[in-house]
Amino acid sequence: MKEVVVLGAGYAGLKTVVLLQKKLKNNVHITLVDRNNYHYEATDLHEAAAGTQSASRITYPISDVINPQITTFIQDEVVKIDPDKKTVKLAGHEELLHYDYCVLGLGFVSETFGIPGAEENALPMTNVKEALAIYDHIIAKMKDYRTTHNPDDLQIVICGGGFTGIELAGALVDARASYAKIAGVSPDEIKITLIEASTRLLPMFSEKLAEYGVNLVKSLNVQLLDGSRISKIEPGKVIYKHGDDDEESLNAGTIIWTTGVSGNPLMEECGFDAKRGRVIVTDHLTDPKHDDIYIIGDVAAVMPPDGKRPYPTTAQIALAMADYTAEDIVSRIKTGKHEAKPFTYKSLGTVASVGNTRAFGEAMGHELRGYPASAMKKIIADRSLLETGGLKELFAKGRFDLYH
Ligand code: NAD
Repeated sequence: MKEVVVLGAGYAGLKTVVLLQKKLKNNVHITLVDRNNYHYEATDLHEAAAGTQSASRITYPISDVINPQITTFIQDEVVKIDPDKKTVKLAGHEELLHYDYCVLGLGFVSETFGIPGAEENALPMTNVKEALAIYDHIIAKMKDYRTTHNPDDLQIVICGGGFTGIELAGALVDARASYAKIAGVSPDEIKITLIEASTRLLPMFSEKLAEYGVNLVKSLNVQLLDGSRISKIEPGKVIYKHGDDDEESLNAGTIIWTTGVSGNPLMEECGFDAKRGRVIVTDHLTDPKHDDIYIIGDVAAVMPPDGKRPYPTTAQIALAMADYTAEDIVSRIKTGKHEAKPFTYKSLGTVASVGNTRAFGEAMGHELRGYPASAMKKIIADRSLLETGGLKELFAKGRFDLYH
């Protein structure tokens, strides 16, 4: 009997478990560990933060996809992985987990690049609890305005105009009228500002498409301060520098941090050869020093054949890595050998939503704008849900209440 320990129930970890359960009926026991008892759609966090989608609609219980005859789910925090002893230590369990194969899918954290005050004074958006905290904060500020009449309470600043920042701005635009109602003001008094260091936003898209996206966001009354590098965050104040100009600042009741993410810091803490929480993996998605450890999702850096920069971390590539990992583990359990072919990846496309009905992006070599882009975005999102949760979760989106 082989023991497979999967750490993390995000896109990568959970799909690996789902596939292993389908492919191996005997001779294997799987242990899945996650700090939460639910899986969440990380690609939809911005909607939970804005309040345009309830948290229950972007989560489902892990138990829904677990086959208890093969898999044991443990809700706990991973503390240490010891690759030499092949053990995993959890915070709440005395006993160590032992594995034949370990799959690390420990996900991402917010990257502050050491900018002073960012951790203390800006709100990150990397998990459901943080997204809900952003929503609660915005609503509290809108309520405050009724007594303070301080326009700063109505100012929402997004720090970092990358993919996440742009999608969040779109969702906030959708929610603007509801915020205005709470504050008792007209929607155009709710200010949404993106502060972005670069002048060429969204480098994953062609210049023309990125410009379309940026203009789309601006046309929705979102202020964009590009070429503006944030240097410090004070309580209620963002300090930034535009080129060689003197420092400027903007007061805001809500400051949200979306300047990028890194892999889980546990990777470095456990001695893996990681940079910003990511390990450059082998062709078989394993750790270069430990062939029995798979590193997938946001803690992995996968080099494309041209070998210049790793693929960007997305839900799509995390799911593709899970496909490969499950195949490879099955092959090793059955034949003792790795899959013959190394991991390869071809993106289906990348689409950014700007609210519920607007989007832009590229899919299968075509640039998409407007409705086709929005439809493609929903197809990609539903595919992710289908691939981890199956039809049950796809049809039942919205059943799981986080607080119970
Ligand atoms: P990102 O790194 O793509 O964007 C961060 C942005 O913040 C950049 O534009 C950067 O210039 C800016 N920035 C950094 N430091 C700054 C500073 N001090 N002042 C001002 N601006 C600053 O990060 P992200 O948007 O969180 O995305 C992370 C990853 O997830 C990316 O690979 C992205 O492609 C991916 N993603 C994909 C999807 C999707 O496919 N639907 C959605 C969201 C994120």
